[in-house]
Amino acid sequence: MPSRKYADGEVVMGRWPGSVLYYEVQVTSYDDVAHLYTVKYKDGTELALKESDIRSQSSFKQRKSQSSSSSPSRRSTSRSRSRSPGRPGRGRRRSSSQSREHKDDKKKTIQETSLALPAVLVLFKPSENNTKRYNGEPENTEKNDTSCTILEQKLKPDLEVKHFEQYSLRSRKDEKKKEEIYSEKKIFTTVKTVEKAPSKTKELEFGGRIGTFMMIFLLPATVFYLLLMCKQDDPSLLNFPALPALESLWETRVFGIFLLWFFLQALFYLLPIGKVVEGLPLSSGKKLQYRINGFYAFIFTAAAIGILLYLQFELHYLYDHFMQFAVSAAAFSLALSIYLYVRSLKAPEEELAPGGNSGYFIYDFFTGHELNPRIGSFDLKYFCELRPGLIGWVVINLAMLLAEMKIHNLSMPSLSMILVNSFQLLYVVDALWNEEAVLTTMDITHDGFGFMLAFGDLVWVPFVYSLQAFYLVGHPTVISWPVAAAITIVNCIGYYIFRSANSQKNAFRRNPADPKLANLKFIPTATGKGLLVTGWWGFVRHPNYLGDIIMALAWSLPCGFNHILPYFYVIYFICLLVHREARDEHHCKQKYGLAWERYCQRVPYRIFPYIY
Ligand code: NDP
Repeated sequence: MPSRKYADGEVVMGRWPGSVLYYEVQVTSYDDVAHLYTVKYKDGTELALKESDIRSQSSFKQRKSQSSSSSPSRRSTSRSRSRSPGRPGRGRRRSSSQSREHKDDKKKTIQETSLALPAVLVLFKPSENNTKRYNGEPENTEKNDTSCTILEQKLKPDLEVKHFEQYSLRSRKDEKKKEEIYSEKKIFTTVKTVEKAPSKTKELEFGGRIGTFMMIFLLPATVFYLLLMCKQDDPSLLNFPALPALESLWETRVFGIFLLWFFLQALFYLLPIGKVVEGLPLSSGKKLQYRINGFYAFIFTAAAIGILLYLQFELHYLYDHFMQFAVSAAAFSLALSIYLYVRSLKAPEEELAPGGNSGYFIYDFFTGHELNPRIGSFDLKYFCELRPGLIGWVVINLAMLLAEMKIHNLSMPSLSMILVNSFQLLYVVDALWNEEAVLTTMDITHDGFGFMLAFGDLVWVPFVYSLQAFYLVGHPTVISWPVAAAITIVNCIGYYIFRSANSQKNAFRRNPADPKLANLKFIPTATGKGLLVTGWWGFVRHPNYLGDIIMALAWSLPCGFNHILPYFYVIYFICLLVHREARDEHHCKQKYGLAWERYCQRVPYRIFPYIY
């Protein structure tokens, strides 16, 4: 018996999840494990469907001709009351004009129902009684079919919805409102659970195998280059630093302190405090649970550091051995990546990352093969995302501040150092306070846990993001109060955009019916999720990136304009977010098809208004 009925590339009719509507789709792949077909709708939307939700085109054509040729008398005899209990009795039958009106009503309903969907060929049987039988039983329903309608429906170009409760795909009477909102919500749920099943990653990102291979060397090299540059008196671009002796890069004690730090954070993560929330549904429909206690971990760390300082522990030890700490963190992240890859080889297919399942060792090792590697309930990726690296970044900044005071014999840190420390502290505290929001980011939902994230979280974030503070220790920069005030305003503007944009989208994704969002408009999409077109998400397509970049600039400005080195962060960050935005666009285009195109027409700029 063949394991699959439909071949790749075949054009068939696919049932829209949660409805009785069939649309013309093309089969793009088949998952042997989950027994799901990935099909592409005409607007580009891709969904995974069961075989029972797919029909051949010929069965539709055949039925269309049969139903039009079958005589009304034949149809009336075959439709018995017992088979159709809800159908009005003879005495209650409508007049022919009423019946025409009724048919028109139904036709209108069908057309309106189709508005949120692409240009489609719809075979629809609007009788409520038949709806049930039609679902998977086309042959039966055909016999009783009095009103098969074939519609060619173009998506209405200006369909836009103001509030979730007005998310109306059909005209309806007031008394039916609640019921229909409920059924729409049900569609939201149904579609969510029919997320695309993980299949082989076909489109390789980051330059494919060669690109990822090079990045494995390039990323650590960049970190060490930046740190060596920062140590120089004149860190000009052309002043290439001398390479240190290899043995000077490693100290076991430093590695021990790094391990202690990592496991201390792991201990804080395991503490049974803070709420437990569910992540977004996985391709299997399962939802993982996550403990939200990052902010507590930060408080405990602050208390631990306070105790160390009280006990006269010299935190600038971190500054003195900065390069060795970076080497220790890099060695650890490499070991962790190897462990992650090895264990991913045994992971079930449905637990692999949609973006890191190419079958190429280097590519999967770099991008991460397994989506949510866990040891028991300990989620390795989620833990590394916000704790050891992010909290470590703040501790490093504090160490730099103390080192500055000690080296330059200051009773107070410089204004520049205070600004850099405060701005970045605000950023980290914000991320930990809003820890739950990380669950909807690409890192958690799409990218696997491999070298890219392990190195990024444990080395790149703490050692590169603290570059400005590190720079200021060796290159004191004096700024006036008015300049400091101007830079603070820039940071506040960036933060305001970043926070309100992220909050707006998170609130909308969590509950589109939230009354706080009542003034926002959105475009409904074929997947059931909406795309905001007013508020921050109507300003540019990634307002949160814009805010983040403005903040990045504010973090570099206190370092003055003598060298480009402290601006590395903002330059790199623009490149990172432009690339990330392109990746996200690509995913959204696949997810939302025509609706995404309409969103792009409505909001033409990606990150920078009137520029890009
Ligand atoms: P975003 O938070 O920008 O989320 C993108 C997703 O939002 C899309 O995939 C889509 O997902 C949804 N979306 C897009 N447009 C709309 C719309 N109009 N209405 C509603 N939903 C929409 O993704 P990131 O994970 O990249 O970023 C999260 C935050 O992290 C950002 O603030 C970013 O600046 C920051 N960041 C910081 C980094 C750092 O190193 N400091 C690195 C990377 C990111 P769906 O429809 O499926 O919900």
